[in-house]
Amino acid sequence: MSVSSSHCAASRILQIGILGFGPFAQFLSKTMIRQGHILRAASRTDYSTPCAHLGISFFRDVGAFLEAENDVILICTSIVSLSEVLQSLPLHRLERPTLFVDVLSVKEHPRNVLLQVLPEESDVLCTHPMFGPDSGKDGWKDLALMYERVRIRDEAICSSFLQIFESEGCRMLEMSCEEHDRMAARSQFITHTIGRMLSEMEIQSTSINTKGFEALVQLKESTMRDSFDLFSGLFLHNRFAQQELENLELAFQKVKQQLVEKMNKEEQNLNDSKLR
Ligand code: NAP
Repeated sequence: MSVSSSHCAASRILQIGILGFGPFAQFLSKTMIRQGHILRAASRTDYSTPCAHLGISFFRDVGAFLEAENDVILICTSIVSLSEVLQSLPLHRLERPTLFVDVLSVKEHPRNVLLQVLPEESDVLCTHPMFGPDSGKDGWKDLALMYERVRIRDEAICSSFLQIFESEGCRMLEMSCEEHDRMAARSQFITHTIGRMLSEMEIQSTSINTKGFEALVQLKESTMRDSFDLFSGLFLHNRFAQQELENLELAFQKVKQQLVEKMNKEEQNLNDSKLR
């Protein structure tokens, strides 16, 4: 892994076609528009009204979307729908080599699907902004942007895209998709799993909250704002996640066992003292 500035400082106004205009795409698009980039969008749902408010052209016809003069196609679909969405694209309607970028929260899966489905002349940049509408609501400064330059020939377009994040003050982390998935399974996936477990327990704020408990309530609330598609994608399409789920279960059993052993010992001591 390396912490780097993107490879070329010069940046230009990009024409960015966003595929999948759900919550995360809408969040990203606001910053891109503020920076002066020209945005188009296509999605399963009709987002023509919110797009019109944002000054984004919305395409109901994905073929026409691909034919537009996009420098970048930014894939913001759910993890679990990626294969289906990409396989249904009429890619023959692309009129020029285009940089495809994805922002999925797992990385080996989109890298593999993109390399399998896209024409050889398309460049591929895999990214994961390690923040979302909650954590990035007051700006992106010091928040991390992980990326792997999977297949890049047009350096200028790639650098200009990375500049979107760099110019907002993001920490730029270049690493392999595998390295990302290994770490994310032990960090982000565990965070979401614990947040969902706390929600199952229906934990609520109390009048005697400690700071630690407040953090747990906040964790529950922020993870539950993300879709179940997102959460299940972190598990289904990260090959390291299953092991981490097992580790979490083992850790729970171990901690429980320590408490039960302690309780049994206390009881034994009590009984012994009664006998004396
Ligand atoms: P999400 O539930 O993961 O994805 C919603 C998007 O997927 C919408 O654009 C939706 O299209 C599309 N979609 C879902 N099922 C589909 C299907 N069967 N066919 C076509 N499109 C489908 O929610 P999200 O938070 O917006 O996340 C989008 C992507 O960004 C995900 O890959 C996620 O891992 C990544 N990401 C999210 C965050 C975050 O904080 N939320 C942070 C970093 C990365 P319609 O709306 O048109 O139905």
